[in-house]
Amino acid sequence: MSLLTRSTVAVAALVAVGCTRGGLGEDRGPSGPGLGVETGSPAPRPRSTSSPVAATTPSPAARASGHLALGVPRDADPSDDLLLVKPEYALSYNAKRNEANWVGWRLVGSDYGRTPRHKGKFLPDDTLPAGVYRVTHDDYSGSGYDRGHMCRSEDRTSSEAANRATFILSNVLPQKHELNAGPWLRLEELSQELAQRQGKELYVVAGGIYEGPIATIGRGVAVPSSFFKIVVVLEPGQSPSQVSERTRVIAVVMPNSTEIDREPWTRFRTSVDDVEKRTGYDFLPDVPEPVQRVIEARVDDAAAK
Ligand code: MN
Ligand code: MN
Repeated sequence: MSLLTRSTVAVAALVAVGCTRGGLGEDRGPSGPGLGVETGSPAPRPRSTSSPVAATTPSPAARASGHLALGVPRDADPSDDLLLVKPEYALSYNAKRNEANWVGWRLVGSDYGRTPRHKGKFLPDDTLPAGVYRVTHDDYSGSGYDRGHMCRSEDRTSSEAANRATFILSNVLPQKHELNAGPWLRLEELSQELAQRQGKELYVVAGGIYEGPIATIGRGVAVPSSFFKIVVVLEPGQSPSQVSERTRVIAVVMPNSTEIDREPWTRFRTSVDDVEKRTGYDFLPDVPEPVQRVIEARVDDAAAK
């Protein structure tokens, strides 16, 4: 299911922020002229700006990053989607929830190396525009929630910089430890198996689902009621444009609960359509619509690792 057609996406409202150091002093914010205007054209509408914060989506930098090769997930309200593209992953930041709506990344065997896990505190995201609160390590302290990586530390061990980037708090959401160290971890381990040992190329997107009353921790960091993850598994040598009706797509929704640490990840499999319905986002939007229709309706049933 596609929740939005490409021709009606308000492309001008997403703000693409490059991973440049400094120079992001101008707070454009997600509002401004052109918000919510239908373009009537699939092409991003150019906006004149002298700022390094480009107001088109996806920016050339986003496309070049590779993490968004299957498209930029979009929902009906672009005002709380701030697109951040880093070398290690890309994400949509929600300044109302003080965390990502989704984090997306490409995962391949060469992402694995010998770099040890970053030691020390998690890091504020200093690429967020001025005026957006930068979550700190201590926002999570004593909260009862893990600092749950979306793009996993172990999956970015090719260099110290890559591993350190996973500890930036824009890549982190509050997860119950039993989820983080339970079925969530077991799906991460399967992904590592597929990418590192089987040579597959994965496109992963993960984030929170917010159903019912939403608690916060620290200075307003929202606690998702559950988490989703979508893993598109390309065979060795396939390119993102070759996603077809036969492509394996794993989608899960796991409750942010203390009760699930012994559950297999496979228990939480669902369809991308279900994730789209519960998040409001259209995922894999650049996959041709007839292919989306098939692979987003299917629930993965391959045998677990
Ligand atoms: Mn984790
Ligand atoms: Mn879709």
